[in-house]
Amino acid sequence: MHKKPSQDKPALNWLPISVFSISALITLFLIPYYALTHGFDGWQIAAMLAGIIFCEISITAGYHRLWAHRAYEAHWLVRLFFAIGGTYAVQNTILHWSSDHRLHHMHVDNNEKDPYSAKRGFWYSHMGWMIREYNLNPNKNYENCKDLKKDPIVMFQHKHYLPLVLTINFGIPILLGLWHGDLIGMMLLAGVARLTISHHLTFFINSLAHVWGSQPYSSKNTSKDNPIIALLTFGEGYHNYHHSFQRDYRNAIRWWQYDPTKWLIRSLNFIGLTKNLYRTPLEYIETERAQMLLRSTTIKLSQHFHSEALILRLQEEYETLIKNINEFTQAKRQWMEAQKNTMMESYDIEALKEKAENLKANFLQQKKNWLSLNANIVLA
Ligand SMILES: [Zn+2]
Ligand SMILES: [Zn+2]
Repeated sequence: MHKKPSQDKPALNWLPISVFSISALITLFLIPYYALTHGFDGWQIAAMLAGIIFCEISITAGYHRLWAHRAYEAHWLVRLFFAIGGTYAVQNTILHWSSDHRLHHMHVDNNEKDPYSAKRGFWYSHMGWMIREYNLNPNKNYENCKDLKKDPIVMFQHKHYLPLVLTINFGIPILLGLWHGDLIGMMLLAGVARLTISHHLTFFINSLAHVWGSQPYSSKNTSKDNPIIALLTFGEGYHNYHHSFQRDYRNAIRWWQYDPTKWLIRSLNFIGLTKNLYRTPLEYIETERAQMLLRSTTIKLSQHFHSEALILRLQEEYETLIKNINEFTQAKRQWMEAQKNTMMESYDIEALKEKAENLKANFLQQKKNWLSLNANIVLA
């Protein structure tokens, strides 16, 4: 092999380069040519779309939220399903993927320690990090994923990854093609186009979701919330929320926001296939959000009005909100501790519950006041 690394760039990684470039070239040139000369039918397009959904949801609900973040627990049947879909998606093993991803969260935007740091540019965070041997992950034995090593499905996939990738990626399209009749057409759409598209949809989370969008929860890193990216990534586009509250099984917290990964995890919970879904307590979310809003509205105020009185009013409303949140948090904690205390009378516990509920209503009312004040200032 003629590996000639340039002075400052590590050697090229030929396996991913081949997989990415061959699949992209076939998708861009051979598939349109085949469409014109032979045509594709609805079954082949459906097989491609179903394959994209299978790959994507296995990465978002399985690799990402289940394994990398432990946001919930899942029955072995669900884990097996995601392991097969993740292998079909060709994004390395669960263990390797999760190890990289945990580093991404721990050292986000650090060019030396985040394996796909967005600060190194769009191309690097999208694909560039995989096509050279950057070796930014110091966990050679996946020390940061000891918990995952106890999962036999994770370890089986890790040990037999290459034969599994080949079997599943050739096996599924070939079986579909034999059933359908047009083997080549099925291999092109359900095999290659499905792989190329699902690759880039996932890669957008590391690239686009760190570049384009808003930052309602934190400006400490480059992550962004973006509903359009959420549409492309099965809900992972609410990436600013995710980087702020990474253990949450939800990436979108409002009912109208598109997060099918969350809907799937919750649906599986209804039929007993997932459990212990972790939700960030409301008070933490609202505290972060209020801080960000205070900052952005203050900047707008100082740019347009130079109104000291309004800035002071804003500050006051913010402080009242934080005070109300803290009072509620404390009361909630007291009530939860009381529930565990077997010595306590039930009417005392009930009183603590009522106090917490009242303080919650208080805080939600102040949140409304706070949001409308901000909206009025911004609209003025
Ligand atoms: Zn990220
Ligand atoms: Zn994550």
